[in-house]
Amino acid sequence: MPLRPPPPPAPSRPSAAGHVLPFVAGPAIAQLPTLSAYIDETGDRGRGPKSSPVFGMAAVIVEPTAEVAARLALQQLRSDFGTPTTRPLSWKDDIKSNHSRALHASTTLASVQGIKLIYVVVNKSLLSVGSYGDDVTVFYNVTAYAVLQRVLWAANYWPGGRRQVAIRFGHVARHNSTDTHRYFQLKSASPKSKVPFELISSLNWTSATQFQMSQVADLYGGFLKEAFWPDQFGNVNGEHLRHVWHQIRKSHGCVIHLGLMPRPDSQWAKGMPWFPCPTCPGK
Ligand SMILES: [Zn+2]
Repeated sequence: MPLRPPPPPAPSRPSAAGHVLPFVAGPAIAQLPTLSAYIDETGDRGRGPKSSPVFGMAAVIVEPTAEVAARLALQQLRSDFGTPTTRPLSWKDDIKSNHSRALHASTTLASVQGIKLIYVVVNKSLLSVGSYGDDVTVFYNVTAYAVLQRVLWAANYWPGGRRQVAIRFGHVARHNSTDTHRYFQLKSASPKSKVPFELISSLNWTSATQFQMSQVADLYGGFLKEAFWPDQFGNVNGEHLRHVWHQIRKSHGCVIHLGLMPRPDSQWAKGMPWFPCPTCPGK
């Protein structure tokens, strides 16, 4: 009798199974002015020889008026780059190693008023064995949760008062976003949580073609990639990230770590040749 293959092990992640409850703003929160957050990722979550050295996410947070301005800037870039109307503009397809285009994109977006950015970026080589980086789903969940926390803190302390926020993560191939939703749900149920989950008006994973702002988030992800992902000669280019530095959320005088969260620690970012904050107070 041939041996049967053993059954696959049951996922040990608590987020792998269970009910999914939508995040909905209560009546008082639903009265607050609105924000939208569009999040895109850069790099992959793998740990093999062909995997990216970094995995990061860029969140673009906008009020409705800033979203109009950002979409106008996007239309300008699409026109200038000749992006076909049949597809989204993307860092990969329209810019990548074209320095003039990257420069044009970063200077154009840097001039858009009212954009607030959150960045989380992980140096995979510095993650120890046994950490969240070992499992691609956990890796995504932990990174996305660091972004979510920072988006919600930004909404909570928004200039002029608290805001409700519609959150749209970019859909990632071969990732089950329901697992991430449950992961957030478990975090929100913790009595120790200091994250204002109540400000979420909606939470979704969307395709790159659904919202124009996802294209904007993709470009901001490209600036992050350039700054942290060494090229074939080992160099990083922080020029574009520096152009948009003023748009990254600041706290206590610096972007680290509520606006820019380098993982596993901020020394990695502070040691970059382009890092613009030599006397950084951020831990
Ligand atoms: Zn600093």
